[in-house]
Amino acid sequence: MLTNPLLMNLALLVAGLFTVSLTYVRASVSEAWTRLLVRYALMVGTSVALMVNTIPLGPGLLYDFRTVPVALASRRNGWLAGLAVALPLGVYRWLLGGLGQVPACINLLLVALLAGWGRPAFTRRSGNVGPALYTRWREALQIFAMANLTTFVAFALAAKPVAEALGVYTLFTLLSTVGMVAGHLVVQTRLSALANAATLGQLAFTDGLTGALNRRQFDLDLPQAGPASYLLLLDLDHFKQVNDSHGHAAGDRVLGALADVVRQSVRPSDRVYRLGGEEFVVLLHHCQPDAALLVAERVRASIEGRLAGLAGVPGVITVSGGLVPARGAASLAAADTWLYAAKAAGRNRMFSWLGAGENLMS
Ligand code: GH3
Ligand code: MG
Ligand code: MG
Repeated sequence: MLTNPLLMNLALLVAGLFTVSLTYVRASVSEAWTRLLVRYALMVGTSVALMVNTIPLGPGLLYDFRTVPVALASRRNGWLAGLAVALPLGVYRWLLGGLGQVPACINLLLVALLAGWGRPAFTRRSGNVGPALYTRWREALQIFAMANLTTFVAFALAAKPVAEALGVYTLFTLLSTVGMVAGHLVVQTRLSALANAATLGQLAFTDGLTGALNRRQFDLDLPQAGPASYLLLLDLDHFKQVNDSHGHAAGDRVLGALADVVRQSVRPSDRVYRLGGEEFVVLLHHCQPDAALLVAERVRASIEGRLAGLAGVPGVITVSGGLVPARGAASLAAADTWLYAAKAAGRNRMFSWLGAGENLMS
């Protein structure tokens, strides 16, 4: 008799919170108000569905998991978020009337406040994927052990014995704890999947040694480059000698420092890629031809002036480069031609063709 409505209520909670979890699109970000509103509306909807399908435990004794979404909202975004979910539920419960009217509304309020205890009143962060709540089920137990003290008030109002209230209080507290752990797991599963996807995405498109973007990302970005974009291809001069003279580890430090120096020499909106070995590319976006030339020269000068020192290698390390307008896949081959010309002309220089029908050298 009891099992079916209880399972039904738990299944509704899990299904509702699964829908709520779909409103998370990235872990640990500050979220838009509209997204938060949709999430809280879904949480309220879940709790209303739980109340509509409440579990008759005995004469005049009803239970459902309505407070679980309230506790989860408070826990993640602060007690104000919990209140935002609890208030419409309180109004709905108030309209239902009955002896339990007041204690039930106080219970919703207490859950919102206790679950957000010791945390900021409100945060728009989606929350990081910290330790799963099932490893900290005691927190859930504490919240409901305190909030459900309202059960005793309800029993006193109904002039029922305290001993009976104790049994119901214990049952309600245990059920709500199980509900909160289950609900948290549902949301947590989605957030961990999003966090994993973000990590894997970063690994897939980043070079592990230098932190620059990799060839895969470059191949995606090049066709998207706008008309005022430039491609600067860079290749360290006599890099093999650095490895031969100072060891491969020193060579690796040089590559890491090179990525840093290049990033510092361009705008944050310009993207730096390691194509492989000691060959890097910068895509300069929304750039005038003169500015592109200046940036290329600034990169060259910074590397000559700072790279060896930053990497802890004696002497001077230089770079050669080819600068061309970024126009699809062919521009990489074009830049390579100019790079090759810069090497042939003695290295430590940038050669460029900016599409004005003239060859420019710097
Ligand atoms: P050039 O001026 O003509 O470009 O001469 P170079 O010595 O820089 O060019 P070359 O192509 O002969 O040598 C490139 C060297 O880059 C050889 C290789 O050992 C080194 N290299 C490539 N990838 C890595 C890496 O990940 N770490 C280190 N330490 N060295 C690398
Ligand atoms: Mg080289
Ligand atoms: Mg090379």
